Amino acid sequence: MTTPHSADVVIAGGGIGGLATALSLHAAGIRPLVLESSRRISPLGVGINLQPAAVRELHELGLADELAALGVPAVAHVFADHRGTTLYSDPRGTAAGYRWPQYSVHRGDLQMMLLRTVRERIGPEAVRTGVRVEDFTQTPDAVEVHALDRATDRPERHTAGVLVAADGIHSRLRARLHPGQGPLRWSGVTLWRGVTETDAFPPGEALLLASDERDAQFVAYQISPAALARGRTLLNWVCAVPTGAPGPLPAGEARWNRPGRLQDVLPHYADWHFDWTDLPGLLAGAERILEYPMVDRDPLPSWGAGRVTLLGDAAHPAYPSGANGGSQAVLDARVLAHRLATEPDPVRALAAYEAERRGPTAAVVLANRKMDSVARARSAAKRPDARRDLERAAASHRRAAGEAAALNTRASYTPPART
Ligand SMILES: Cc1cc2nc3c(=O)[nH]c(=O)nc-3n(C[C@H](O)[C@H](O)[C@H](O)COP(=O)(O)OP(=O)(O)OC[C@H]3O[C@@H](n4cnc5c(N)ncnc54)[C@H](O)[C@@H]3O)c2cc1C
Repeated sequence: MTTPHSADVVIAGGGIGGLATALSLHAAGIRPLVLESSRRISPLGVGINLQPAAVRELHELGLADELAALGVPAVAHVFADHRGTTLYSDPRGTAAGYRWPQYSVHRGDLQMMLLRTVRERIGPEAVRTGVRVEDFTQTPDAVEVHALDRATDRPERHTAGVLVAADGIHSRLRARLHPGQGPLRWSGVTLWRGVTETDAFPPGEALLLASDERDAQFVAYQISPAALARGRTLLNWVCAVPTGAPGPLPAGEARWNRPGRLQDVLPHYADWHFDWTDLPGLLAGAERILEYPMVDRDPLPSWGAGRVTLLGDAAHPAYPSGANGGSQAVLDARVLAHRLATEPDPVRALAAYEAERRGPTAAVVLANRKMDSVARARSAAKRPDARRDLERAAASHRRAAGEAAALNTRASYTPPART
């Protein structure tokens, strides 16, 4: 059974990557259809960061004002110990010479803004919720997408030129393309995340990354210009604590919305002290606490096959501590649209997209691992050379995310207008 919703490109997943892909394809004159398995897209998640390279792409999609209304420009990453003493400060965004800021935003707000824009620009039918993509078959001329309408339990078929798997870290389509990939790789670290409104945050528009000698980490940054305008601070925080031996993670344990418990977090921070806040009170002030294991996967030697490709977390899941997951998904989206708009053969276009994106995204996965291990062993008492190691890891992370000079001068991914 084939449904009447045909498209040039079917996108599995309406997360940050899938929606950015829809906008990028539309801007390139290509008709997308997003199939999202959740019955309703709601503003889930907590804070994420958009690196300047991704902000450039969103600006070129005409979303500069929307982003400025949603995000707080991040000016530095400030590394500190558990008493608040600064060890090293790394300038970010425009303070580091980029023409575009780094924004700290609420993931859910960003997703809702992208969804609204897709529906306004492409039409209300461009995103169908409650439709799970389950499989595909290919002919030389097309890809047949097999999906399930979850409300009616009825199978659907969509014929398209290309299928993009933007179905996130648990990607079913990635597993179909790479059946032997095995479980996610856990770093041994548990992340507890939350958002608390507070009246003071001395690092201001910087991200605070503090850690102690037992390698517990506390990361905090502001995510709301609206709260700032009211003289308040909406603070996104992450507590990252080693809680087990690294290794494979059983399926089902990494859920973005799994609730966490305050009593599990607090003991790890009993001897922490910042003079600007009562840390237990700050954590207790969150409306809800989420728990997530820090997981990734080794980079793949290839992503897709023929008319099917991977994008975003489905292609290159990385530690969230690198502040780069959403950004890399946006960059994938723009490069993919550029290639499809400029190469008439879709199979060759997808091959060119993968060739361009596989290397840089693999570098991000590896730089995030390195950044995490260095940041985690940086207490001044424990490592007298902490500052030098931090500088090096920050530089390698910056290189992976894109240096300012290269980003500022490279050609745009906006394809030439079709006549
Ligand atoms: C609910 C949620 C909360 C998150 N919260 C955070 C956070 O707080 N901090 C952080 O750093 N990152 C968070 N992330 C991850 C972050 O959004 C991604 O790392 C990054 O934005 C890359 O986006 P993506 O589009 O590749 O994947 P995602 O944003 O994960 O989007 C994948 C989408 O695909 C959909 N999907 C899955 N399987 C199918 C299928 N078979 N068919 C159709 N649709 C499917 C999912 O419902 C989801 O909407 C969250 C992701 C989700 C889904």
